[in-house]
Amino acid sequence: MKKLNNISQIKPLLEASVKPRVVITTHHKPDADALGSSLGLWHYLNKLGITSTIVTPTDYGDFLKWMPGELEVVNFEEFEQKGTDLVAEADLIFCLDFNALKRINNLGLLVAKSDAKKVLIDHHLEPEGFEDYRLWTTKASSTSELIFWLMELMGHMDHLDEDISSCLYAGIMTDTASFKHPSTTPTTHRVAAMLLERGAKSNRIFEAVYDNYSESRTRFIGYCLSQKLQILKEYNTALIVVNAEELKQFQIITGDSEGLVNYGLSISGMQLSVLIIDRTVARKMSFRSRDQFPANEFARKHFNGGGHFNAAGGESSDPLEMVEWKFKEALKDYKNLLQLKP
Ligand code: 5GP
Ligand code: MN
Repeated sequence: MKKLNNISQIKPLLEASVKPRVVITTHHKPDADALGSSLGLWHYLNKLGITSTIVTPTDYGDFLKWMPGELEVVNFEEFEQKGTDLVAEADLIFCLDFNALKRINNLGLLVAKSDAKKVLIDHHLEPEGFEDYRLWTTKASSTSELIFWLMELMGHMDHLDEDISSCLYAGIMTDTASFKHPSTTPTTHRVAAMLLERGAKSNRIFEAVYDNYSESRTRFIGYCLSQKLQILKEYNTALIVVNAEELKQFQIITGDSEGLVNYGLSISGMQLSVLIIDRTVARKMSFRSRDQFPANEFARKHFNGGGHFNAAGGESSDPLEMVEWKFKEALKDYKNLLQLKP
């Protein structure tokens, strides 16, 4: 049975005289929405006199390190004991921008074991339901937009300041691909407008996120587009496969491959764009599709992944060549869905 949004029930917990110990966590390799929503909530809780700690399962890209409060984030990979203790001692754990505990790696086991009440705030399809309280809808552009709604629901809009607004604006901007995806609603624009009114600087945030890459990352993108792009014409699909040697050659670090998969979809007629990267632990895949191709279903069925209808991800422990082969095999069943509409 689908759970109902019952997040208003946490109001007494937030307003109690004995403040809860709070952990905020988000999915591995956090993007701007994951980190922006977490920091937005962190600042908001501070305003309520509640001390919280953000524990991320992994590190994240340098393009997020301008966010106010970022220095306080605890990376579980780096500070495992501290993260373990924080989760064990928490009364309340906010789980932001993910729908299944496996998305937070080993931290998921600790969260599942913890006696803390769990609060899910998310916009991904089909949450698995580990939480006690939820604010969930796929109609929100981003989790950052949901943090805004939370503040509104709690009657705390007076707390919305420049720091919170900047973090939330970054999350909305990136999850909507700068207000371009169909998830961008009139409400998204109204929320963004309010964030600008409260101090978010849209041009500065855009520059900090998108115009802040290293020279080698830019050359890497050029290399992938000129040397590595495969066009599978029969399937209207663009594919880029990057091996470990190439990642090393261009000194690719976390966050550098962000956005690369979108280029394939910018080619006229392409219905699907796929990026396969040979990361140390696993082969990581990104899927972006147009129209009727269910990227999340494809990722779930074939590559242990998920996500949104037109933007999803997955991974595999197979060697890179095998993953590429399996992907091309899997594609054969989707030929009809990948044809251009007349
Ligand atoms: P990206 O390609 O940018 O890593 O991810 C695109 C979307 O797919 C995001 O909404 C992300 O949450 C989701 N996603 C990415 N990787 C995975 C994965 O391994 N499992 C699941 N369930 N979702 C993923
Ligand atoms: Mn998101």
